[in-house]
Amino acid sequence: MATNWPAPTTVTGYGFAQKAHVPVVAPDTVDALAHTIEQARQSGTSIGLRGAGRSYGDAALNSRGIIVDLRRLNRIRSADWSTGVLRVEPGVTIEQLWREGLVHGFWPAVVPGTMFPTIGGCVAMNVHGKNNFKVGTVGDATESFELLCASGERLNCSRTQNADVFRAAIGGFGMLGVFTELTLKLKRVATGDLMVTPLATANIADMVSLLAKRAADSDYMVGWVDMLGSGAGLVHVANYCTTETGAPGSSLHAAHQDLPSRLFGLVPKRWMWPGLWCALTKPGMRAVNSMKLWSGARHARAGSQRQSLVGFSFLLDYVPHWRNAYLPGGFLQYQSFVPRAAAASVFEEQRLMAKREGIQPYLGVMKLHRPDEFLLTHAVDGYSLALDFPIAARRTQRMQRLTTRMNDCVLGAGGRFYPAKDSVMDASVLARYVPPQNLQQFLSLKQRLDPQRLFCTDFSQRALEPLFRTH
Ligand SMILES: Cc1cc2nc3c(=O)[nH]c(=O)nc-3n(C[C@H](O)[C@H](O)[C@H](O)COP(=O)(O)OP(=O)(O)OC[C@H]3O[C@@H](n4cnc5c(N)ncnc54)[C@H](O)[C@@H]3O)c2cc1C
Repeated sequence: MATNWPAPTTVTGYGFAQKAHVPVVAPDTVDALAHTIEQARQSGTSIGLRGAGRSYGDAALNSRGIIVDLRRLNRIRSADWSTGVLRVEPGVTIEQLWREGLVHGFWPAVVPGTMFPTIGGCVAMNVHGKNNFKVGTVGDATESFELLCASGERLNCSRTQNADVFRAAIGGFGMLGVFTELTLKLKRVATGDLMVTPLATANIADMVSLLAKRAADSDYMVGWVDMLGSGAGLVHVANYCTTETGAPGSSLHAAHQDLPSRLFGLVPKRWMWPGLWCALTKPGMRAVNSMKLWSGARHARAGSQRQSLVGFSFLLDYVPHWRNAYLPGGFLQYQSFVPRAAAASVFEEQRLMAKREGIQPYLGVMKLHRPDEFLLTHAVDGYSLALDFPIAARRTQRMQRLTTRMNDCVLGAGGRFYPAKDSVMDASVLARYVPPQNLQQFLSLKQRLDPQRLFCTDFSQRALEPLFRTH
């Protein structure tokens, strides 16, 4: 079949470091999507699926074929506000979900740290939120989906129908087919606010034990670690508010939730990333982190405060285009997931390794997790630490050495990794952290549903494709 793909455009991962210059097709109906898949199949062109492109590395890039951008499939097909169950197209964003649901008293059960991802992209990565320890991942809040396969077949999948595909496609990073419709259950909330308590921690081990201690009584928890210093930090624990302070239902409205357009009521937010860019040097970030620790300790003394769900959940969205501060080199996020018993020592070792290499991360974020039923899941009964490293060409080798050593440390402790954040793992790493029977089942399903391996990305070429030769 002769195919006229659009002219190539350059698309990047969220961290800017990885790019693809390829045709991007953006269908606006499921039929148009099915037609694109058929054209690609007949012309032997591989397809990389892409939602909002919020994966940090190359998981939503495909340098070898075309990219299919799913953001235009963004309709909410039905909503039952007596139960909070929604049927949505894959391009519906987290922002659309909360804007639609909150006025009815429903909030997405699991949200990542930004509201811009699509639900298709979130389910494909099985994203977690600051409440992972309590409610699991977005897969746990997913009741069913329709998967459009490479053959054109549409499979209905749930815990009772095609359950094997259900458990594999959630977290299967777009390898088995395209989610064309998803049924999700939102969480009922009495108000749009959380009561947030800041708590200072002296070091990484202290944060690990504080998160364990507070888990039973908290709805959300997240810790920020000063990785440029001694690992001191700040934990925020939060609980849903059950009563309003204003008129009934007032906090459920978008006007109460929307992030302010100016910082301290003065500085337009669009000026913030250039300010951050100037501070993004080791001495600059040391100063920023020291200020953060100092003001955190003050807030901790002041006690708990009410905060909107949006304000607490999407902190990074306060600073539009914050990632531009990492230009020109971009940045790499390294997130590892480590079982409870080893977490404190592995994360402390990572801090020391980075210090020894002289390439310390500017940001460190810790969360508590729980295991789930999905084949390739990153979630463990333990903790994760996400580290943001600025990238500079002059230290590529040192960076590679550091991530290889950190990987060994994580794998030695029975830890895992997360394709949404990854830029460095190869197939041997994936094969070590995914349980062998899960990996075998996933590869068999890929072979059954997509024998031509039509769906592929730069991440899958790096971390999955070699396994078809060895397994
Ligand atoms: C500021 C920031 C904060 C973040 N915080 C968190 C966090 O707290 N927790 C967390 O878990 N993640 C977090 N992330 C990562 C982000 O949530 C995930 O990368 C998510 O997958 C992004 O969704 P997306 O729509 O941008 O998908 P993309 O990044 O475009 O794609 C993700 C994957 O999904 C596949 N895909 C996309 N659409 C479909 C579809 N319809 N059917 C099948 N496969 C599809 C793609 O091929 C790709 O493999 C964060 C990212 C950023 C930028």
